[in-house]
Amino acid sequence: MLDQYGRDIRYMRISITDRCNLRCRYCMPQEEQPEETLLDAEEILRLCACAVSLGITRFKITGGEPLVRADCPELIRRLKEIPGVEQVTLTTNGLCLSQALPSLARAKIDGINVSLDTLRPERFREITGRDGWQRVWDGIQEGVRLGIPMKVNCVLLGGINEDEILNFVRLARKEPLDVRFIEMMPIGPGKGWAGVGSERVFEIVRREYPDFAPVSETRGNGPAVYGRIPGFLGCIGWIDAVHGKFCQTCNRVRLTGDGFLKPCLYYASGTDLRALLRRGASDEELAGAMEQAVRHKPREHHFGEKSRDGEAEERNMSQIGG
Ligand code: SAM
Ligand code: SF4
Repeated sequence: MLDQYGRDIRYMRISITDRCNLRCRYCMPQEEQPEETLLDAEEILRLCACAVSLGITRFKITGGEPLVRADCPELIRRLKEIPGVEQVTLTTNGLCLSQALPSLARAKIDGINVSLDTLRPERFREITGRDGWQRVWDGIQEGVRLGIPMKVNCVLLGGINEDEILNFVRLARKEPLDVRFIEMMPIGPGKGWAGVGSERVFEIVRREYPDFAPVSETRGNGPAVYGRIPGFLGCIGWIDAVHGKFCQTCNRVRLTGDGFLKPCLYYASGTDLRALLRRGASDEELAGAMEQAVRHKPREHHFGEKSRDGEAEERNMSQIGG
């Protein structure tokens, strides 16, 4: 459906839990919400069906860590079966990916993004607070082997992992794996970190691979810009979340684990769909509330600017879903 600025909103990111089995220093879930505040599978699927009725047909399952919810693969399977759903993908830290892959493959998942900020096991522990690099890596390899479209997302942490940019890029050489670099966003503990913009990434990659060139094809649903290196099987992408303001083409809304529909990542505002659900609202009422929220999606974010009181989001990324 079109919002008030004529943007076609067709993509929804759904955080199915705020719980996580890692403690990434820039995201760091601290206090968890009480279990009963989280939407159950039936509630999520009902909201998804309403979203489809409004023209939202692509869904990303995220968290917290979505795979800590045992019903995640089954939820994806059922979501894929809703008529009109075109695509369901997952964003995960990969720690539990290997064991979930058979059921995710059976659910016919359309793609998996694995967040991995370092290729060094000891640095993984420093960034995430836990061991487990090898498990994540095994999950990525296994996903590629199963033929699932896989992406590796690396958030660049100024002064911490910039020295690994080329090692990440090389992952795309022999595997059909897209590697994407994400600029740190000033949300939650992320506010305390220096980000690294795409210009720096481009410069580093270009120095090593002078033939690195942007591709014009659209890949995925989002704001990532991609480039190809001749001979590489995967693409290299970057998401300049703060400096490359892509609000004009933003096509997404977000649903938090507790059922709050957020039209824009930056703003605290949105609609409490859980309250409506649990008050016994009809599908028409739910769809109507979603439509209102989507229609009034703000024009643009104001990351990097001084925000007005109460305007900016106070939740952590683990609650919002990234
Ligand atoms: N736990 C899953 C994972 O790590 O992929 C899904 C949720 S996580 C919040 C989704 C994405 O948001 C991850 O790629 C993570 O690195 C990213 N993220 C978290 N905090 C961020 C921040 N402040 N700026 C940019 N990306 C962030
Ligand atoms: Fe957990 Fe993902 Fe946040 Fe890391 S980025 S703490 S894995 S939710």
